[in-house]
Amino acid sequence: MAVNIDWENLGFDYLNLPFRYISYYKDGKWDAGKLTEDNQLHMSESSTALHYGQQGFEGMKAYRTKTGEIQLFRPDRNAARLQATARRLRMAEVPTDKFIDAVMQVVKANEEYVPPHGTGATLYLRPLLIGVGDIIGVKPATEYIFTVFAMPVGAYFKGGLVPSKFVISRDYDRAAPLGTGGSKVGGNYAASLQAEVEAKEAGYADAIYLDPSTHTKIEEVGSANFFGITKEGEFITPLSTSILPSITKYSLLYLAEHHLGLNAREGDVFVKDLDQFAEVGACGTAAVITPVASIDDGEKHHVFYSETEVGPTIKKLYDELVGIQFGDIEAPEGWIFKVN
Ligand SMILES: *Cc1c(COP(=O)(O)O)cnc(C)c1O
Repeated sequence: MAVNIDWENLGFDYLNLPFRYISYYKDGKWDAGKLTEDNQLHMSESSTALHYGQQGFEGMKAYRTKTGEIQLFRPDRNAARLQATARRLRMAEVPTDKFIDAVMQVVKANEEYVPPHGTGATLYLRPLLIGVGDIIGVKPATEYIFTVFAMPVGAYFKGGLVPSKFVISRDYDRAAPLGTGGSKVGGNYAASLQAEVEAKEAGYADAIYLDPSTHTKIEEVGSANFFGITKEGEFITPLSTSILPSITKYSLLYLAEHHLGLNAREGDVFVKDLDQFAEVGACGTAAVITPVASIDDGEKHHVFYSETEVGPTIKKLYDELVGIQFGDIEAPEGWIFKVN
């Protein structure tokens, strides 16, 4: 490795790497796109992304295998999700081939920043799609920028899987019933910052959001999806149009059923039934799997498995998922894309 980075002690912080990808959409079409060393975006002060939140993004990782190869985990799913986000916000869609080509170019150009196998660290990739141009009225932009940048990030859990405490947000929703909760857009995050900061100030890892129409069902755990293992050994994860469809979550649903032999399904998770769960976890690309130690809701305190140790089923799911992502365990067909 030519670069001087302490891979074992990386956090989740921005780093200005040598190359990023940028492509412009104008007059109804995308240009070819190219790598650039410039980490500043140049756009009109009236860009719709800045005023009306017309933007969407993705989060994904490149993994170094033990033979030194680099691979991506289900990048076609990220491409499809950014297209769905683009449709919901009336933005120009980035075709799947263009999306995957952009990601591959950024990984290859910054190859020496893909952390070594065994450190748990990865190269985090951030594809971003924004509406730009000289428009001040409220309407969809006719020009867009699609960019992909990257940075090495550390293993989420350095000392093993440590459970975290969460609190239910009773004062704020992150999304509306027919709003954009199912789209990966900055607006959902802007709406959740207040609850997140208050939860953190009160000593929790993050806030848990309920379904915005009845406030009786669990939806999201901070910026991750919720899943639980019932005392009967069933894997359950909530189903709702205002939940962000996590690729990690759909992968765990598959692995729970096909690799661990559990019953696995999407269904309502009522707050009043939380004690049916032996183990609870939060999942996403950044968090991988975070075991949930406990959930507070006003005076009520629900504890799962243990406040200090990860439960056995979550541990198995974690080992299976991470093993596949780093190439130590054979992946289901079509999940792994090699970068070469
Ligand atoms: C990105 C995201 C997730 C996780 O999705 P993955 O595809 O698993 O990374 C979960 N919840 C929210 C709100 C998100 O933005």
